This record gives sequence, structure tokens and C-alpha cells, in this order.
Amino acid sequence: MTSKRTDELLKWDREHIVHSRWAIGGNIGFVIDKSHGIYLQDTEGKEYIDSSSQLVCVNLGYGQTEIIDAIREELEKLQYCMQYLGFVNEASIRCGQKLSEIVPEGLDHFNFTTGGSESIDLALRFARLYWNARGMNKYKIVSLYDSYHGTAGGGLAVTGSGRGGYERGVAPVMPGFIHIPSYYCYRCMFGKEYPSCNIHCAQFLAEIIEKEGADSVAAFIAEPELGTAGMVAPPPEYWPMIREICSKYNVLLITDEVMTGFGRTGKMFALEHWKVKPDIMVMAKGITSAYIPFGAVALSDEIWEALKGRNFVSYTYAGHPACAAGAVKTMEIYQRDKVVENTAKVGKYALERLKRDFEPLPCVGEVGGLGLMLGIEIAADKATKRPFDRKLNIMEQIMNNGLEKGMYIRVCDIGSTPGDRIVFAPPLIITTEEVDKALDILYSIVASLKP
Ligand code: PLP
Repeated sequence: MTSKRTDELLKWDREHIVHSRWAIGGNIGFVIDKSHGIYLQDTEGKEYIDSSSQLVCVNLGYGQTEIIDAIREELEKLQYCMQYLGFVNEASIRCGQKLSEIVPEGLDHFNFTTGGSESIDLALRFARLYWNARGMNKYKIVSLYDSYHGTAGGGLAVTGSGRGGYERGVAPVMPGFIHIPSYYCYRCMFGKEYPSCNIHCAQFLAEIIEKEGADSVAAFIAEPELGTAGMVAPPPEYWPMIREICSKYNVLLITDEVMTGFGRTGKMFALEHWKVKPDIMVMAKGITSAYIPFGAVALSDEIWEALKGRNFVSYTYAGHPACAAGAVKTMEIYQRDKVVENTAKVGKYALERLKRDFEPLPCVGEVGGLGLMLGIEIAADKATKRPFDRKLNIMEQIMNNGLEKGMYIRVCDIGSTPGDRIVFAPPLIITTEEVDKALDILYSIVASLKP
């Protein structure tokens, strides 16, 4: 029996509030009330391990009082300051300075936003404006199927998640966008196998640029590791090849580090794994550990120089002092507490256990990913890679079983990925003991799946 308070809240919510990726008019059936460490607690007092940092954004876990204090102190001092018309506030400068310490060298020019989708839209506009400033009409943007870049206009247009699924019912999206197959090897759209494929998916970018005409292609954008598709890391050759192709054809490389950034993959930014530097880098989520909405776009020196003197219009809340102050404190904690190092260490431990215990299970196709951005592919038939019959709602069952056992498990199914994948992406402050506790629950659920 749930309490009257919970029942009333759930009823009102069902009748008035739209939830993302959930049928309108419904909700999950409990109300999140409190949080601490890696745990969420509902209004009935039940606790859930958060095994995916909710939307892979609460990188530092819950209850970091220093971030809360930094936000409160800034709000007490200055409640708002626009970045329009040349107005300046100290917190946003301190935030830019802190970011300069951790972003790749030569990428320390910033525009601030309140999240990922806004940042993606700006990044695409910056790319087009750059070529315009150089007197060229390069406007096409190439992105990947299986990618997710948000739901504002530009973000939706570059998103290829679900191989078109996100556009259903709201198409047509903006013109000038091209999707090419991603590096999701397990379900390769070319039907090839790694490594005999010679990384055809990377080489295909060159083919598409040549077909479209390099004089019309402004940028290529991708996530360093596919997130919404279920934590799929690229083969090691992919990113260096992409960098080379972009440079060869004078196409800007935009990396979407919204999910991968701020330590998630065991490096501060994921492209560091392959020593590749983008021209534009997009950040959000972990920048404030999701305690307050914030995002940023980093531009290379070259783009900055080309755009100097031009006018650019951003958002009302860009560079909000409270958000910027929250970001500064969050980044200080990443550095001081060696959070990235912990992610690499604990992530290695978790991946080893996934490989040893989960991969041999009859319904696990593969496991993979970097740092604490790990994915488990679920397949009804390992040999043919056939997913479960949709009517069985296997992924929904996995999520519900997890909730029953006291753990939130993020599942990705057709609509956001071509197969079915379980995400393991807990807060980066997790210990190996807590990883074991979470993976024990997950193992009992995955091991009980019958092919
Ligand atoms: N880019 C990536 C890689 C994401 O994972 C997301 C959100 O999940 C976005 C962009 C959009 O960010 P937001 O939801 O903050 O608009």
C-alpha cells in the first residue's frame, strides 16, 4: 500500500506532465524524493542504486554539498547576468578559465548554454558561420546513424539514433544533414566484420564528402563513444582515420562530449583515448554533474580568429552565474579527488567482470565500452545475433526487475539502438564494492533470461 501523498502526486503527474521516452499520460509509479551517494530514494523510503547516473549525467553522485554551496553562494551574490551586449560576470570567466585547464590545448574559446541540445545547435551554427566568414558556402553536416545529439532543431537533425526513429511523427527535420553508418560493429550496417572491414565506416566519410562535394560540407559530428545507442565504443583506428579525413577535405570535426566528457570514459574527454583533437567540442551533463543545467561549446583558435568581429546570438541563460559557479566547483572536485583516475580503475574492474561473468551467458551477445560507460548487448540467439521478439518486451522486463530489486537499470531498445542493450554507467565516485553489489543484481536478472 502506497501513502496518500504518493498516490496523489502520481495521479496529478499522470494527468498533467509529459515524460520523455514514456507514453504520454503515464509514469513509472513511484516518486523520487531524495538522494545520496549512488542511491535514489522514493517517497515510500525505498532505495535504488542508480546504475546509470540517471541520464549518464550525475557523474559525482548525489549529495556533493560543495557544489550546492557554490551555487547558493553565487545566487546570494548575483542572481542573473546576461551575456548579451557584451555584459560580463566573474563566475562565467572563472568557469572558462577552469575549462581551459582541462580541455585539449588550443580549444579554449567558449560559449555557454544550459544543456546538450542547446550546445549542439550552437556548435552547428558556429561551423557554418566559420565557413561563411571564410567566404565559403559550406553548410552540409554529416553525422552517424545510431548517434544521439539532442532534441532541439539542429540536434534532432543530426541525431541518427534508432536509425530514423526519433524523427518519426515530427519529420521533416531541417535540410542539409546527411547520416552515414556508425561504428556499431556488432550490428554493422555494411554487414562487415572487424578488422577485415578495414574500418569501412570511417572510410565511408571520405566517400560521402567526395560525392556531396567537399566545397559544400561544413562539418562531421559524432559522439566519441555511442551513448544512447547503448554504450558502443569504436574500433581503435576509427577516430584517427576520421581526423585525417576531416583535415584532408577541409571539413570541421565536431565532437559531442556531452555524455563522454568529464571523466566518464576514464579520460577527461574521450577523444584523448586516441590522441585526436576536434575543431569544436560540445559539453554538458557532467560539467555540473547535473546539479544545475549547464553546457558549453569549445572552439579552436582557428575558428575563434576567423569569427572575431562577427555577431553571434545565443541564449537568455547563457553563462548564468549560478550555473557557472556550480561548474567551477564540479571541475575542481574532478581534479582534486582524481575522479577520472578512479573511473579508469573501477571501469576496468567492472568490464573485466562483465567479460568474465556476463559474456558467456546464453543471452549476452557482447559486452564493451570505455571507463564507466559500459554496455551489454542482449540477443535471443548468440549465433545469429537475433534480438528478442519485440512482443516479449524483454528490456522493459529487465528495467522492472531491476527496480523491484532496488536498482535503476537504463535499457536501450529498438528506437534508440538497432538491438537491445543494457547500460552500466554509475556515478564515477563508485567503489569496487559498490560495483560488485550492482553487478550482482544485474547478473541475477541477465542470467535468468531464456533464449
Ligand atoms: N548529446 C549527447 C551525446 C547526449 O547524450 C545528449 C543527451 O542525452 C545530448 C546531446 C542532449 O543533451 P540535453 O538532453 O542536455 O539537451
